Amino acid sequence: MLETDYDLVIIGAGPAGLTAGIYAARAGINVLLLEMAAPGGQIIVSDLIENYPGFPRGLSGFDLGNKMLKQAENLGVKIETNQVDSIKSLDNKKIIYLNEKTITSKTVIIATGASPRKLHIGEEKFIGKGVSFCATCDAPFFKDKTVVAVGGGDTAVQESIFLTKFARKVYLVHRRDQLRATKILQERAFKNDKIEFIFDSLVTGIDGLFNIENIKIKNIKTNKEKNIQANGCFIWVGIMPNTLFVKDFLELDKKGFIITDKNMKTSVPGVFAAGDVRDTPLRQVSTAIGDGAIATQSAEHFIMALI
Ligand code: NAP
Repeated sequence: MLETDYDLVIIGAGPAGLTAGIYAARAGINVLLLEMAAPGGQIIVSDLIENYPGFPRGLSGFDLGNKMLKQAENLGVKIETNQVDSIKSLDNKKIIYLNEKTITSKTVIIATGASPRKLHIGEEKFIGKGVSFCATCDAPFFKDKTVVAVGGGDTAVQESIFLTKFARKVYLVHRRDQLRATKILQERAFKNDKIEFIFDSLVTGIDGLFNIENIKIKNIKTNKEKNIQANGCFIWVGIMPNTLFVKDFLELDKKGFIITDKNMKTSVPGVFAAGDVRDTPLRQVSTAIGDGAIATQSAEHFIMALI
């Protein structure tokens, strides 16, 4: 039994989804924004965003996410906490299966973002006992302690710098001898006395009775292994798209990101994707916002063509 019918359902309330909502509300579209966790997206755990224009001193991801949320709410976007299990297309409708109900919509924008990738070296056992994916959330637990961070991208380097506000020492382990992160972040990290780089290396194991006590590291050029006595392990080895619920519905690339054209159209007419969840060359707040605006415009054109 179908309970509710919308013109547009947006799934995910990060920067892309909130922007899509803001544009939809201003266009007078009957819109619902669904979010399964806290609105704001991945940025809410970022301590500083300094490449989003308009904030000369930068601002925290939490502040930026909250400002976007307030803006969407002020414009009347209806936001509901709910998880989407799957989506189907039937005639001119999309059927969206939620936890305990089913809704329908003429169009859907998927803006579910991405989640941290795991190493699968036994870290699951130590989540909450020293393993973390979020420095903003957990860094204060490591005051004057030694931690290992893993990864060479923007997240690993930026968050390692943040960790040094608390930790005594941060070992940053990267699998190559060159970082992927933006130059400005690299320069800051290289200048930071508390960060020691361990290049060409992988974390191969984590040991401890209850909490982390020891981290095993292997140099992949020499095959030599060493142990670092550390209390924490922060893992920042990239992201996985949150697309499991559409894997049989939409065309995905080989990494699982949604394939779109420049108008954010997916392989299913009336379904659009925006932000980190789609196959895109750059994943930033500014690009997610552009995606969200374009996706809503495309949805609006699709709705008008149905009339
Ligand atoms: P990323 O750019 O994909 O970097 C992931 C890093 O983890 C890479 O250095 C990669 O090594 C390494 N890695 C991947 N798999 C690994 C494995 N199994 N074992 C060991 N290392 C592994 O991911 P990210 O840093 O999370 O960033 C995600 C996106 O958000 C990017 O587009 C990034 O620019 C953006 N972002 C931007 C900012 C900012 O602008 N300030 C901050 C955070 C994130 P290789 O380099 O060898 O591939």
